[in-house]
Formats: sequence, structure tokens, C-alpha cells
Amino acid sequence: MIAQKKLRIAVIPGDGIGKEVMPLGVSCLKAAALKFDLSLEFTEFDFASCDYYFKHGDMLPKDWKSILLGYDAIYFGAVGMPDLVPDHVTLWGSLLKFRREFDQYISLRPCRLMPGVPSPLRNKKPGDIDFWVVRENTEGEYSSIGGKMFENTDREVVCQETIMTRIGVDRVLRYALNLANSRPKRHLTSATKSNGISITMPYWDERLKALTKEGNYADLNIDKFHIDILTAWMVLKPEQFDVVVGSNLFGDILSDLGPACTGTIGIAPSGNINPEGRFPSLFEPVHGSAPDIYGKGIANPVGMIWAGQMMLEHFGFKDAALAMLKAIEEVLAKGEPHILTPDMGGSTGTTKTLGAAIERNILGK
Ligand code: ATP
Ligand code: MG
Repeated sequence: MIAQKKLRIAVIPGDGIGKEVMPLGVSCLKAAALKFDLSLEFTEFDFASCDYYFKHGDMLPKDWKSILLGYDAIYFGAVGMPDLVPDHVTLWGSLLKFRREFDQYISLRPCRLMPGVPSPLRNKKPGDIDFWVVRENTEGEYSSIGGKMFENTDREVVCQETIMTRIGVDRVLRYALNLANSRPKRHLTSATKSNGISITMPYWDERLKALTKEGNYADLNIDKFHIDILTAWMVLKPEQFDVVVGSNLFGDILSDLGPACTGTIGIAPSGNINPEGRFPSLFEPVHGSAPDIYGKGIANPVGMIWAGQMMLEHFGFKDAALAMLKAIEEVLAKGEPHILTPDMGGSTGTTKTLGAAIERNILGK
């Protein structure tokens, strides 16, 4: 995407450690804006949180959609206080509403081995693992179409349909093709299972083949793997991947497995993207509100900061995004116990020391 002049960002800290890590995410973005002369405009909102829910009886104000339509991006912390409000109220009342109503049909996750973060895979060094998982985010296996028959009898039957539409399949495949095309390795891997799932998955493969003939992708290296062997390869030889695209279910699995292979699931970010920019895209850390550590000031802010980095990259601010990534990597590589949070092996390090170290690095101090 071409960088636009001004990026209007709706800041939603949400609940729990979302409120603790968000200020560090914002200060790192402000540092990048200062250093690279970007115009970033931040507006903070208190909705999509349990505090808002306790006050107003709803997670969002009635006019949330028109409010957020005034922004290019939503920078989101975390939502949920599972002991006090059920997840279906918090999640369905906020994040999942955004995803659906703003047609955020791409879920995007980086899988990148960071220095100082041990990979659970033996002998892997930073640089060995660096790929993206692109997941279809709106249809596929997660339709609610289906039901139960002959309930509570021996003949009980349940079924649930997978829905794939041409528009839905083409747009996610096209996004992944373009992403692969923009990267040096220019390699796309598609997850399939057309040997077992005999209607929808052959259709997925067929659409990929049709789209690759469109012309722009002539010398792109494209392969496809069945999901079972693909998960095995991700563990055995992750170096071979560059951009991996999957349906809603396969992408869901791969977008946890990928970051897990890099040991970064705790600090990984995620984007829920409406690529055309008709609606705001949302960037958040993968972790939740972590009630068990909330209030202690020890939450790791890297996922939040990395989500901000992804946001800049998505909107085409390449230099600033690269500097933020480099800052995260350099601070993690130093491995200073008085800077790192306890989950990264730190001793006296806190949310603030780690976030501030990254901010200083961005500023070149
Ligand atoms: P979700 O709300 O998305 O369902 P979850 O309930 O599965 O998430 P989290 O809230 O992410 O899980 O917490 C899982 C565990 O990871 C907790 O023990 C929590 O303390 C820890 N954790 C999560 N995020 C962080 C972080 N940023 N820094 C340190 N520890 C974290
Ligand atoms: Mg939770």
C-alpha cells in the first residue's frame, strides 16, 4: 500500500494489561512519527472494555460504527474479564463485531524468530524463520449453518457446512499473492486438503490456479501442501516458507503454530485487515487481557509495540516500520535483565523499562 499523508488512529486499550501496554505502544509510534516525520493522529476511546460495559450495559456506544469509520486504523489492546463478564459478551460485543461489520477479511500474522527469544525448534537462528500467515477471516469452515437431528436418540446427527464464495476465496488469495509478490523471496504456499475435503478445497485450489494466470504473478514461486504435511513442514523446515495462505480453519491453526515455532506467541501481533481501506483495519497483540498479572506492571509490551509496527508497515510507512522492528530486535538481543519483563527472563524489568528502551532505540538515543 502507498503511504498516505496522515494516519488517523483510534486507540482502544480495552481491559486488563491492554491498559498497561497501550501507552508504551503509543509512545513508540510517536517516537517513530517524530523520527520519520509522519503525521499520526491518536484518539483514545474507553469503549470495548468491561469498565464501559459496567457503566453502560453494553460494550459499545450505539453509534460506534460511525465513530470508528472516521479512522484508518484501530489500535487495540485486549478485551475481557472472564471472571466477571462472559467471553461471548465481551468478544462478540466488540472485537468480533469490528471484524464482521468492517469486513476485515484478512487476518495477518508475522512468524519471525527474534534475537534473544529461544525457538522451541532446535538450531534455529534469527533469519531462519521469517514468514507471514494470511488467514481468511470471514467465511469457510466457521459458518453457523448446520444443526442437530434426531436429538437425544441413538440416531443423533450433527452437521455444519463450510461456505466458500468466489468473492471470499479470490480476495484472500489475491491479497496473499500480492503480499508474496512484494517480498524478496516471492514465494506463496497455499494450505489445502483436496484429497479429503472433496468440494470446497478443490475449489480453493482451482481459484488459486485461475488467479495466478491473471498475469502479475507469472514468475512467482507458488506451491500447495495438504494441511497435515504443511503443519509438519512448518516444524521441520520453517525456512522454506515466505507467505502461507489458508482458509479460516487452516489459517487459524497455522497462525498459532507459526508464531509458536518462533517462540513468540506471547509477543506476537496480529492484523485484522480490510485491504481496500473502505473500513478501518485493526492491529492488536495476540495475547489477551491476562487478569493474572494485571496491575503488577510486568506485562510484556512487545506484542503491542510490534502491532503498531505492523500498522505502519500496512499503511506503507516502510522506513519507520523497519526502524521499529530493528528497535524491538536490538533491545531483545541485548537481553538486559533490568530491562526485560519477567516472561522474557528479566529480573527487575517492567512494562515501562522494556517499552521505554524500545522507544529510545527508535529515537536513536
Ligand atoms: P484471550 O483473552 O485472548 O482468550 P487467554 O485468556 O487465552 O487470552 P491471556 O490473557 O493472553 O490468555 O493470558 C495467557 C497467559 O499468558 C497468562 O498467564 C498471562 O499472564 C500470560 N500473558 C499474556 N500476555 C502477556 C504479556 N503481554 N506479558 C506477560 N505475560 C502475558
Ligand atoms: Mg482470556
